[in-house]
Amino acid sequence: MASSSNIYRNNNNNNNNNNYRNAIKIERAPASSSNLRASSSFKSKLTPSSSNVRRSTPAFIGGSSRHDDSVSGRVRVAVRLRPRNAEESVADADFADCVELQPEVKRLKLRKNNWDSDTYEFDEVLTEFASQKRVYEVVAKPVVESVLEGYNGTVMAYGQTGTGKTFTLGRLGDEDTSARGIMVRAMEDILENISPETDSVSVSYLQLYMESIHDLLNPVNDNISIVEDPKTGDVSLPGATLVEIGGQQSFMELLRIGEAHRIAANTKLNTESSRSHAILMVHVKKSVGGKEADFSCDNDSSSHFGSNYDPPMLRKGKLVVVDLAGSERIHKSGSEGHMLEEAKSINLSLSALGKCINALAENSAHVPVRDSKLTRLLRDSFGGTARTSLIVTIGPSPRHRAETSSTISFGQRAMKVENMLRIKEEFDYKSLSRRLEIQLDKLMADNERQQKAFDYEVDRIKSEAQDRISEVETNCAEALEREKRKCQMDYMESIKELEEKWMSNYQKIGKNGFTNGTTSREGNVGFDRAEIIELRNLLQNESSMRKAAEEEIANLKSQLHQFTNPGAGGNSCILELHKMLEEETHKRKRLEEEVLVLQSQLSQQTLEAGQSQVTHSQFRDGYDGEGALMTNLHEQVGLQKILSLLESEDPNICMHAVKVVANLAAEEDNQERIVKAGGLTSLLMLLRNFDDETICRVAAGAIANLAMNEANQEIIMAEGGISLLAMTAGDAEDPQTLRMVAGAIANLCGNGILDCYHRLQMRLRSEGGIKALLGMVRCRHPDVLCQVARGIANFAKCESRASAQGSRRGRSLLIEDGALSWIVQNANSESSHIRRHTELALCHLAQHEVNAKDMISGGALWELVRISRDCSRDDIRSLARSTLTSSPTFYAEMRRLRIEV
Ligand code: ADP
Ligand code: MG
Repeated sequence: MASSSNIYRNNNNNNNNNNYRNAIKIERAPASSSNLRASSSFKSKLTPSSSNVRRSTPAFIGGSSRHDDSVSGRVRVAVRLRPRNAEESVADADFADCVELQPEVKRLKLRKNNWDSDTYEFDEVLTEFASQKRVYEVVAKPVVESVLEGYNGTVMAYGQTGTGKTFTLGRLGDEDTSARGIMVRAMEDILENISPETDSVSVSYLQLYMESIHDLLNPVNDNISIVEDPKTGDVSLPGATLVEIGGQQSFMELLRIGEAHRIAANTKLNTESSRSHAILMVHVKKSVGGKEADFSCDNDSSSHFGSNYDPPMLRKGKLVVVDLAGSERIHKSGSEGHMLEEAKSINLSLSALGKCINALAENSAHVPVRDSKLTRLLRDSFGGTARTSLIVTIGPSPRHRAETSSTISFGQRAMKVENMLRIKEEFDYKSLSRRLEIQLDKLMADNERQQKAFDYEVDRIKSEAQDRISEVETNCAEALEREKRKCQMDYMESIKELEEKWMSNYQKIGKNGFTNGTTSREGNVGFDRAEIIELRNLLQNESSMRKAAEEEIANLKSQLHQFTNPGAGGNSCILELHKMLEEETHKRKRLEEEVLVLQSQLSQQTLEAGQSQVTHSQFRDGYDGEGALMTNLHEQVGLQKILSLLESEDPNICMHAVKVVANLAAEEDNQERIVKAGGLTSLLMLLRNFDDETICRVAAGAIANLAMNEANQEIIMAEGGISLLAMTAGDAEDPQTLRMVAGAIANLCGNGILDCYHRLQMRLRSEGGIKALLGMVRCRHPDVLCQVARGIANFAKCESRASAQGSRRGRSLLIEDGALSWIVQNANSESSHIRRHTELALCHLAQHEVNAKDMISGGALWELVRISRDCSRDDIRSLARSTLTSSPTFYAEMRRLRIEV
């Protein structure tokens, strides 16, 4: 019979998935029927994370525009039966419930009469014993999970007033936590699954009544408009209060406020909550992905970035929980005293929802979404992209069988509605930029650290290299110093050896009948001329002996040559000749050595002898042999080497060296060479640095000799020689030292460079040369006085020449410096040298009229007269005479005194 197997199959057009089971209306359907197998769970296996949900490719990487892949997701429908309430328990005590639930096979039987019933299959069948927790888990939890994954989700309750919609959705569970409804549990789940640092949850709570939307969080907003994005079709309520949720407590508080406002609004509107729709909107923003990019690989960071970097994404899920107005209104509106239009308006949204679901269930071409605010608001929940769960609530009472049947039908139709789930995901630019900034900062810090380390390394290497260089330099300098020392020592040793040898030779010669030399002041043996000649003869003897030996060797060599020629005599003969030759060579060597030693000794002795008369070189009248020997020595040793020894720290070496240099300086040929080779500088340094008067004396003598050369005079002055000599003159006690110093200054006084007279004289005077010269007369030693007188005469001569040239004017500087009285006193000195110099000085001074008055008052006139009469030297005598006669002042004075020249 057809009626017994009247099976209505839901025409679910794209349902090939076994997880989706069509709701079937079965009459007496066998429980074991294979196509009635209980669905495993209400929870969809088509979770967004399943493999066929492809994540969109970031547009900025591939350059392709973003596109979503969506998956089909049927609206899930559960039915929940409210237990009998007290009234029903009494009123319906004699009647059976109008429904019978078979939760294990997810079926509901709606009784038609005692013998007939219609069977409906739902996604979930929840009996009157179902706990709130279980209801949440099977109805809402999958939706909440989807929302956390970036989908939109809807949980909606539909049913007659009093069947438990609000109980299911909105219970706060204040008195009994197990009674918490879906809203509270959903928020708990959401808050548990987001991280407060990156994610956010915000909530709007609204009431829709008579096609106007009221803000349950802020009642002032009582007509909120719906804004639709024309491109995406997304709806939003910009006028609604959006409260960010910090925690479960604040959410509970919001729900309480919302509930209070709902009651207040209903009182004001004179309505009941059952006539209005309550809508909770939960916006969840959750950051996902954005695995830390690894920028450390520096070879190709862009490709690296492209292939491995999972950019941060922001998932925006919206959960809408709708507690609909009681479904019974559709039929009973008029009965409650409303005007027809008002009643229409009250139920408009709900009836429009029914129409839309019908249209969607039947795959109708037109879905009248725009007919009501509710359908506009729920556009995404039915036939849109959201995951939607509908819970239909029914009561057990047979009195409401018709309402229950209508509710079940609504649920059955809703089960046919297919949504295309689509993830709402976009780039989390903020988080990406924040993350990149952090990464950049890290890289910059790394880079800075590396740069620092690099700089430090460079510095370290530099300083190491520097250290190594200076170490090598120090080693080198030390080695050089050691070498220099060694050379000096060697040199000194050889000089010492020569001295000793000479001593012994000298004594030998003395014993052999030569006259012993006189011992000079320093204990050195002085030589007189005869001794030197003796030595020279000895040397000549040695030389001739050497020559003879050489001839002998040559002779023997030629003999040997004859022997070694082919055909010559026997081996023994050759051997003997060899021996002889060796002996002769040996002898010759010894002789040569001896000659060399004697030569050096002779030079040394000449040096010693010359030292006591160093400055006499200017008066020297023929020591030709000596000069030659000195040259010989200096050629043997080398000028540079001798001069370098002047700087030796060893006073002994210094002493020897300065003596040699003093002697060399006596030779006119050497004077310029020594200065050029830096000898003058070294000598001046000795004057400056040495306390040893002997060294100072010999150095001053050497300078005196160098000062004989006119070109040297200016150099000596330029190198500060005058003040050094003046200083030495002030310090010295020894007449010989003073004699050397005075001799040096005297030489400087007599400079012969015409155009320099005046300049050099001024310098000589300003640097204390004249004062020093005059000061040295404190030592009455005639040698010293003689040099002083010579200096004065030289100075007067140059002054006179400068005046004659016209380069100077005025009184003589000598007169200014008070030299006149000393000149007058010594003009008739017993020492012929002193006398001659002072006489000359007077004559030069007298040549200039400016000096005449001072000379007359200083008593010089009498001396001049005496010179003009008695001077033994003709030239001086006639010079004095002509001077006296040509000077008007002198002439006048002589006439006054009646002196005749
Ligand atoms: P509706 O919101 O659909 O009008 P309510 O949620 O207000 O219905 O429920 C009406 C009454 O029924 C309330 O007193 C409620 O406590 C009770 N109730 C509803 N569902 C259940 C249930 N499953 N278990 C126990 N009591 C329920
Ligand atoms: Mg309610």
